[in-house]
Amino acid sequence: MSDPGATWLDLPAGTGYGLDNLPYGVFSDASGRRRTGVAVGDAVLDLAAVTGDPLHGTGSLNAFLARGPRAWADLRERITGWLTDGALRARVQPHLLPRDRVRMHLPVEVADYVDFYSSRHHAENLGRMFRPDSEPLTPNWTHLPIGYHGRAGTVAVSGTPVVRPAGQRKAPADDAPTSGPSQRLDIEAEVGFVVGAGSELGTPVPIGAFADHVFGVCLVNDWSARDLQAWEYVPLGPFLGKSFLTSVSPWVVPLAALQAARVAPPARDVPLQPYLDDTGAEPWGLDLTLEVRLNGEVVSRPPFGGMYWTPAQQLAHLTANGASLRTGDLYASGTVSGPDRDQRGSLIELSWGGKEPLSLAEGTTRTFLADGDEVTITATAPGAGGGRIALGEVTGRVEPAR
Ligand code: CA
Repeated sequence: MSDPGATWLDLPAGTGYGLDNLPYGVFSDASGRRRTGVAVGDAVLDLAAVTGDPLHGTGSLNAFLARGPRAWADLRERITGWLTDGALRARVQPHLLPRDRVRMHLPVEVADYVDFYSSRHHAENLGRMFRPDSEPLTPNWTHLPIGYHGRAGTVAVSGTPVVRPAGQRKAPADDAPTSGPSQRLDIEAEVGFVVGAGSELGTPVPIGAFADHVFGVCLVNDWSARDLQAWEYVPLGPFLGKSFLTSVSPWVVPLAALQAARVAPPARDVPLQPYLDDTGAEPWGLDLTLEVRLNGEVVSRPPFGGMYWTPAQQLAHLTANGASLRTGDLYASGTVSGPDRDQRGSLIELSWGGKEPLSLAEGTTRTFLADGDEVTITATAPGAGGGRIALGEVTGRVEPAR
């Protein structure tokens, strides 16, 4: 890793986008042409222009991601070279555009979308609320990373309006179900993992092959309609209460930028099945700190480092039956919640099922989201340069039901 201070660029102090980050996204400028860019400082490096390679002009990262880990490492090294070698400055600088003048798009054409449930604190909190008469964790939870297949076609980039979903719901005290706009619209602050290199149908991906397949990380808001979810989820799991929209951040941070963020996951309660056992291996827990803002006010700081299941275990589990991976597959961690109240990654936990409304600085309270509310999730991680790198943001504003 080169010294981030060695660049000829004039980087803003404390930028989360130094040379130890270099996340990829898809942008357009006034021309409307979508192409691949890399964020550095307050700029975006136009990869299509600086490389002249049509691979970076397709409007999604998929073609590049499909090339695999050697190509990812090669390009990262070349970009670092362009931004540090003063002799190349005149050639590279014209392809750096101000980031506040470009529009960001969905970075990846999402193939399949899977959502896990890997925060013990979140799972216990929801278990207590949804199944008050049972143990908060189901017996399988400590043995396997629980997940479900979601809807890839409704994964959208940050900034996409969140139209309040309508659907069927029935509160326990109601005699019969009703239909209408959700009254319990919620967020789920999560971290997403983007698969670059696919795998062969029938062959599981071992836990040690995580970095051969996963390219990088984004932020996810898994918008959730709790009233729809509570009525529909038994016995097959999440469906329309989740599938109306999943928002992702526009910048995908490569795993190569997260080496300094790797931490050991918490101690496990039970011996793990061999395909999930990561003892003795370099672990893939990640020390990311998330921040959730509601109408500009920080309401939570969920710590990702405490997640019980790592993304490497999730990938091994996702393919343990021989299901194959495709370029563009996205899997999310599940809501990130820590042990403290101000570390909870959803409003249903922050307001304890709506019973303990959250007081906001503007003098109002919230249980679930109101029309017009805006939620923004950001995150940072330790970078190789000694500072913190940024994972961008995922934001969305609630619009009335249609
Ligand atoms: Ca979720």
